[in-house]
Amino acid sequence: MARVCNFNPGPAVLPLEVLQEAQAELLDFKGTGMSILESSHRGKEYMAVQQEAVDNLRKLLGIPDEYAVLFLQGGASGQFAMVPMNLLGEGQSADYTNSGAWASKAIKEAKLFGKVNVIADTAKDIPTRLPAPGSLKPTPGAVYLHVTSNETIAGTQWKSFPKISVPLVADMSSDFLSRSFDIKPFGLIYAGAQKNLGPAGVTLVIMRKELAERVSEKVPVIFRYKTHIEENSLYNTPPCFAIYIVTLVTRWILKMGGLDVMARRNVEKAAKVYSLIDASSFYRGTAVKEFRSDMNITFRLPSEPLEEAFIKEASAQKLKGLKGHRSVGGIRASIYNAFPPENVDTLVAFMKEFERKNG
Ligand SMILES: *Cc1c(COP(=O)(O)O)cnc(C)c1O
Repeated sequence: MARVCNFNPGPAVLPLEVLQEAQAELLDFKGTGMSILESSHRGKEYMAVQQEAVDNLRKLLGIPDEYAVLFLQGGASGQFAMVPMNLLGEGQSADYTNSGAWASKAIKEAKLFGKVNVIADTAKDIPTRLPAPGSLKPTPGAVYLHVTSNETIAGTQWKSFPKISVPLVADMSSDFLSRSFDIKPFGLIYAGAQKNLGPAGVTLVIMRKELAERVSEKVPVIFRYKTHIEENSLYNTPPCFAIYIVTLVTRWILKMGGLDVMARRNVEKAAKVYSLIDASSFYRGTAVKEFRSDMNITFRLPSEPLEEAFIKEASAQKLKGLKGHRSVGGIRASIYNAFPPENVDTLVAFMKEFERKNG
């Protein structure tokens, strides 16, 4: 079987074991004589699948009972709107950090609903960086502080989170389950599944249940967190198959040893590429060292034609998806949880050889 080294930023690589398991039970799910794709979302087989996903997430992150775990649709982009729609009441304000392209989109949506205080802005900084967590000055009266834990395009990642008294709201789309963290300062976390969690089509939300009570009567029922908490994410038909894959992925992470093992593996993988970049005068990292991401490694070569040649040659050697985001160019190697360590070695060897020939 010819599996490539898949550096796609999202949808992204999934654990081979998970794909094989899904394949093996695709036609006949646990003796039901039908695929999980064809099963009722209210049937006991599917309900067990969804419950396992919730249980696995609670186990992995130590999520207490006062938090709900929800599976929604509309992507992280939908959450850019749903968060302020539910949490930002009339006449209230919220604090946002603008750390890059994704944070900027979240800010734009929040402005539709209330007053937004951008209390730190590093979105245009080059090299790319994040606000120092200790430097943030919350606005008196702000009802939450929004951060983007990993800027997928810029290749930056918060290594620790701000310590403040209002609830933190975080877009963790591209590093959720890549490491453990203390959930208690967070009022709400959201993540589109297609980076680190599963396939596209499901959006994970973990939130303090009490926050869902704030919602205005004017918010449509489907867009209220309260609805989905009360209905156990079954108010309408959930993306069953995507949630099923999330179940398999979380099961895989538990089997691997949990989030601390995952984090160590991720740091080691990223360090292999970063140490090559640091030692090279040919490759240049685009993010400030203390903020660089273990998920998305962004770098430049001495010229754009060399970058084009790099991407083309890599692709010919089955290293796929290395082109940087169209808005910034350069190279981006996305190496999420499921990206195999040995494929990082393949990239490092390729980079060394490319520098030898072209440096
Ligand atoms: C990919 C991504 C998004 C957008 O996710 P969709 O599910 O496509 O809406 C938002 N935030 C971050 C950090 C991302 O990486």
